[in-house]
Amino acid sequence: MSELFSLHGRVALITGATRGIGYAIALEYGRAGARLAISGETAEECQAAVSALALEGFEVAGFPADLSDHHAVHSLSCAVLKHYGQVDVLVCNAGVAPHMGPIATASDKDWELTLSVNLRSALWLTSALLPGMAEIGGGSVIFMASIAGVRGNKGLGLYGLSKAGLAQLARNLAVEWGPSNIRVNAISPGVIQTDFARSLTDNLEIMKRRLALTPLRRVGCPEEVAAIALLLAAPGGAFISGQNIIVDGGTTIGDGN
Ligand code: NAD
Repeated sequence: MSELFSLHGRVALITGATRGIGYAIALEYGRAGARLAISGETAEECQAAVSALALEGFEVAGFPADLSDHHAVHSLSCAVLKHYGQVDVLVCNAGVAPHMGPIATASDKDWELTLSVNLRSALWLTSALLPGMAEIGGGSVIFMASIAGVRGNKGLGLYGLSKAGLAQLARNLAVEWGPSNIRVNAISPGVIQTDFARSLTDNLEIMKRRLALTPLRRVGCPEEVAAIALLLAAPGGAFISGQNIIVDGGTTIGDGN
């Protein structure tokens, strides 16, 4: 393996790593030699993912936490630091979209859940972990945003707002922590085939329209996002910071033809 894409010995904490994009990132990071701290909402899903990743021969430990709960996120940071002693790579990947429809119809509960899991938990985790990352000479932080956050969206407006905030948080933190050799970037996927996207991918009408607007005429797969997350974490990405990298088969640059 090229040194440019090696994470040999690095400790990587990945949230939402029990399935979908997060699990694909855990797999690629493990193959690149990282020591894995994976998080998910429940102990059961964490245990299942830890067992599968351990079978691949990776060093891996699971840390269940509800990211909508500030105290749980604090305990998550403490538990990972206690277990591994450091975090070199932080991937804030978990996300939710509890509300669909005009943004004015979102309830206070929808706002609370969307903003806490998708945005505030990233702030809570970085606040807890970046000082230690700076002490060990730097590291890399990756936020999983979305193309819903780079253009107007009438169906997923609240979700898009949270993801736009996440991309801005990446720029803010990249500026704040760059002098400590910490890079912070966001990835904005288009439709990726996971459980999360099933309400879109199972809807033939929506998919017909979306694929017609996507130059590559297909949805993406989790590995195609994981590969970018690997670049951003590895030495090969060492001069990329504060960016929001779009991985969408061209959906956002198409002319509709
Ligand atoms: P998924 O539903 O397959 O997996 C979600 C993961 O997040 C799971 O591990 C789950 O345990 C965790 N999670 C959910 N709520 C949580 C909570 N309250 N506390 C802790 N963990 C929680 O989703 P996915 O498709 O792999 O999406 C991963 C990320 O990519 C999300 O942030 C999503 O917004 C983003 N994204 C996905 C797509 C897509 O089309 N799949 C497109 C753009 C962005």
